[in-house]
This record gives sequence, C-alpha cells and structure tokens, in this order.
Amino acid sequence: MKFAYYKAKSLPEAMTMLEELGDKGKIVAGGTDLLIGIQHGKYAAPEALVDISFIDDLNRLNVQNGDGLAIGATVTHGAICRALNVLEKYPALVEASSQLGSPQVRNLATVGGNICNAAPSAETAPALVALKSMARIVGPSGERQIELKDFFLGPSRTDLKQSEILVGLNINEPPQGSGNAYFRLSPRNALDIAIVNVAAYVKLNKDYTFEDVCICMGAVAPTPLRATSAEKALVGETFSEKLMREAGQLAKTHAVPITDVRASAEYRREMVAVLTEKALAKAYERAKLNM
Ligand SMILES: Cc1cc2nc3c(=O)[nH]c(=O)nc-3n(C[C@H](O)[C@H](O)[C@H](O)COP(=O)(O)OP(=O)(O)OC[C@H]3O[C@@H](n4cnc5c(N)ncnc54)[C@H](O)[C@@H]3O)c2cc1C
Repeated sequence: MKFAYYKAKSLPEAMTMLEELGDKGKIVAGGTDLLIGIQHGKYAAPEALVDISFIDDLNRLNVQNGDGLAIGATVTHGAICRALNVLEKYPALVEASSQLGSPQVRNLATVGGNICNAAPSAETAPALVALKSMARIVGPSGERQIELKDFFLGPSRTDLKQSEILVGLNINEPPQGSGNAYFRLSPRNALDIAIVNVAAYVKLNKDYTFEDVCICMGAVAPTPLRATSAEKALVGETFSEKLMREAGQLAKTHAVPITDVRASAEYRREMVAVLTEKALAKAYERAKLNM
C-alpha cells in the first residue's frame, strides 16, 4: 500500500487539496475503516490521502443549553463517551459510540467517518437518525445541509459528491418530555459489529400519551431504516408492554436483512422486534423522568 499523504490544517486547505486531486484523492479521518479496507482490497488504494483530523474546526463538540448539539465530523467516539453533557440529553448517541470497537479504536475513530463509511451496521447511524440529525456538508459549490436520514444511499454509498466533506452533524435539543435510547446485538460483547441495532426517540404529551416517535434500525437493510408503521401506531397511544410488543412486530415488517456469517436473516428479523421493544421502553422511561 503506497500513497501520498497530505495533512490539511484548515477546511479551505482541505478543500483545495481535494479539488486538485479530484478522484485521485480520498479523505481520511481516523483511518480505522479506510486503511483496513485498502489493506484488505475492499477499496482501491487512492493516489493520495487528505487527512482532515487535525482541522480544529472539525474537532469541536458543542453542547449548548437550548441550542442543541453540534458535532464536528472528526470528533471521536471516545470524546462522545467522555462528554457527560452529551449523555444527559443524547444518551442514545453515547450508548452507540461507547459500544463501537474497543477503547483504542474509539479514540481514533470519528463520528463523521462512521457516517461516511455508510456500513449498514454503522453504530451511530440509527441513533443520529432517530435524533433527527442534520448533516452539514461543504464542497466546491458551497455549503449545504441535509437530513441525515437522506444521506445514506446504500452500503458504502452516500449523498456526498466529489470533493465534498461532511463537516459535522447538528441535533436540535430534545424537548422536555422526550427520551431516547439505543440497543445493539452482536455475536461478541466487544470488537464485533452489530447484527442488529435500534435507536428510539419518543416525546410524550402531558397526559403521557406518545406525541412523537422516531425509530431507526441498522444492519437489517442496505441503509439505516425508519420503522414508520410502528412510529405511527404509537402516536396518541399510552405506553403498555403489549403496545411495545406490537410496535416491535411492526418494525419487523420493515426489515429486509441478509444472511451472513454473523446471523441469519430470520434471526435478525426476530431481533429487530426485541430490540425495538427494548429501545422504546427505555426511551419512554427516560421521557417520563424528563416531564
Ligand atoms: C477493530 C475495529 C472494530 C470496529 N468496530 C466497529 C463497531 O463496533 N461498530 C462500527 O460501526 N464500526 C466499527 N469499526 C469501524 C470504524 O472504526 C468506524 O466506522 C469509525 O467510526 C470510522 O471512523 P474513521 O474516522 O476511522 O473513518 P476513516 O476510516 O478515516 O474513513 C471512513 C470513510 O469515510 C470517509 N470520510 C471520513 N471522514 C469524512 C468526512 N468528514 N467527510 C467525508 N468523508 C469522510 C473516508 O474517505 C472513508 O471512505 C471498527 C473498526 C475496527 C478497526
């Protein structure tokens, strides 16, 4: 494996490098997907790597009371896990980041890299989609924002165009009376990717009925998948174990998983129901504490 390596010190510098390199260049952040992928022949080795992990503006994690959360693309999963103010309002994200890889991997691997790599099992994708994140993108034609749910086009395929950089993710502060949670299932407790992962966000009315629900599942379709029929079935209803089970069964009907070395499609579908039920119950419990 041989390529040129450029360390960008600012966003404009990274932009210039990427535009000059065109399709010969590739962005690297933590390198925990890219370098291993190149080594294993999953990706063709690029002629040059542009390292964006030293750009201060992309390294910031801002939690503002009332203003929500702004996550720079190169913020590591380790940094997310250590941020107690993120845990307070966005536990689903911390639960996702804290189960990715090992401490060594988490201290290198970035949230932006996890999203741009677009693996169907990407740990943080369901949590960030359930929290209704917006992706901030900068490229040759300027800056744009899109809802993260529309960012994923397929395995390893995103909405990013040539020379565009994901600069960060923004999440509105979850309102009072809301809660969120993330669950994943993996063959091993550490250092293995998820067979199924599910995140849930719920917002309750004053009478404790569901006002708004967002459920996102990973590893059961080419892209993170919303369980829209389960979301709709809960709105206006009151929490019960039976209702959670029904929501899990509805979520299952959306899943189109594959069979691979980790699990069969059938097992994955069953686990979607179980994890959806658990994520909804935990999100509801947190929402009640936040009324
Ligand atoms: C041992 C091990 C265990 C792992 N376990 C897990 C796991 O449990 N769950 C999981 O989800 N993942 C896991 N991973 C995968 C990986 O660590 C994560 O996906 C990580 O978040 C990738 O981030 P990175 O910064 O290393 O990305 P990189 O490898 O630097 O980049 C990944 C891809 O995204 C592109 N990219 C990166 N940043 C940007 C940006 N800002 N804008 C545009 N493009 C960008 C790169 O060009 C590349 O194509 C594991 C990896 C290893 C080595």
